[in-house]
Amino acid sequence: MKYDVVIVGGGTAGCSCAYNCAKLGLKTLLLEKENYLGGTMTGALVVPVMESGTNQINTDFYNLLADEMNRVNGQITYLNNSGWFDPIKLKDVLPSILKKVKTNVKYNININHASTKNKQILSVCYDTIYTNNLLSKDKILSEYIEAKYFVDASGNLDFSKILNCSFLENKQDFPPISLRFIMSNVDNNKFAQWIESFDSDKNVTTVEYIANQAYFSTAYTWDSNKHWALAPLFDDAVHKNILKDTDRNYFQIFSIAGNPQSVAFNCPRLLNKYDLSSVTDMKNAKNDAKKSIERIAKFCNMYFPGFENAYVSHIADKLGIRAYRRIRGKYVYTIDDLRSGKKFDNPAVVSCYPVDVHSRDKNSSTLEKNGEYQLPIESLMSSDYDNLFVIGRGLSADEMAQGALRVQGSCFSMGEAVAKYIYKLLA
Ligand SMILES: Cc1cc2nc3c(=O)[nH]c(=O)nc-3n(C[C@H](O)[C@H](O)[C@H](O)COP(=O)(O)OP(=O)(O)OC[C@H]3O[C@@H](n4cnc5c(N)ncnc54)[C@H](O)[C@@H]3O)c2cc1C
Repeated sequence: MKYDVVIVGGGTAGCSCAYNCAKLGLKTLLLEKENYLGGTMTGALVVPVMESGTNQINTDFYNLLADEMNRVNGQITYLNNSGWFDPIKLKDVLPSILKKVKTNVKYNININHASTKNKQILSVCYDTIYTNNLLSKDKILSEYIEAKYFVDASGNLDFSKILNCSFLENKQDFPPISLRFIMSNVDNNKFAQWIESFDSDKNVTTVEYIANQAYFSTAYTWDSNKHWALAPLFDDAVHKNILKDTDRNYFQIFSIAGNPQSVAFNCPRLLNKYDLSSVTDMKNAKNDAKKSIERIAKFCNMYFPGFENAYVSHIADKLGIRAYRRIRGKYVYTIDDLRSGKKFDNPAVVSCYPVDVHSRDKNSSTLEKNGEYQLPIESLMSSDYDNLFVIGRGLSADEMAQGALRVQGSCFSMGEAVAKYIYKLLA
């Protein structure tokens, strides 16, 4: 069987690409190493889709996702942003959306080889591990799949690594990783009323009531760039050994759409430098993060009205990785392109999300607002293979520009832009 497109990675960018390819009538295969779709959105519990401006392009998949999530009571429009999803419900909705356009999806796959000729990829070989029942042994089935075009949407660019593609050099350390979690049995209305008065200047807190239900977000970091209302509580908890000093390097919480008694945590952010390609380091990172989660949960129980009886209901399967390998593309998008709002003939993404680069050191993270910017499709094309596209956080951009383009709205647009581009190439 020869496909038009094979997409490796069914996460944020990969699902959008697969949906759009199949919708356009391309023979499409999506290969996912986990047994579920959504990648960072579901596996790392990352919500919400960050607001990226009103002139975004290639938003069909995003709009459909918002509608479908709304249908299952897993979406709200909060402060004019329609990207507030329940990451647990998203796990069920994503496969149903792909099924509607008859996308072929294979789960539990492990890519082990690709054959190439000159600057063309001919086929990919992967194993699928089947476990039929508790008594039978795992069976491994190897398959070769040919395709006209390949898309690496694997986040860490495992497929491009197998293909020996060239990557952009990292001049700085990779940003810190996080392990997100959810607390349930929270009295959200009680917490919202308290935080609204506690953070009286609303410097870092937002609250909105939707259908009599309070939704909110608030934050604290150890950086001194803002007046953090929660600072005295964190100071006290560190003083009493309830938290470690490093636990408070970054703390952010959001309500969850359609889930009025739960709160999503965008932390802990881990300050150690882990080797992102080492299984052992990733296990250690998860263990370190889980200990921090225990301390943060206890802190919330003790200090936040509304959290007295709350408990940790979900810890993400996956560590949240903000940046790792970046492909060397036909065009390397730079921070100067972004800051100047440079225009391109064939834009894949239009956004105004700030440059958001996290750092391990105090007062060293960047959150830089710019005007609207465009990403060209050539930054999603490999410079090594003529039929390879790379989408998602591994795009061809320098580290600062990647810090702006890695957010979910832009990843959806990248997937959709590449699908439409391949369709035109095949027409
Ligand atoms: C802690 C954290 C907080 C963030 N907060 C926000 C936020 O609030 N809002 C926002 O918009 N963005 C946020 N982001 C950024 C955004 O969520 C990610 O950058 C984006 O989701 C990445 O999408 P992706 O498609 O590149 O990768 P992913 O969504 O991770 O998808 C990669 C997929 O490829 C699969 N895969 C990996 N290797 C292989 C392989 N070898 N074979 C087959 N499949 C493979 C994975 O299982 C996964 O499904 C955050 C990121 C992090 C880490």
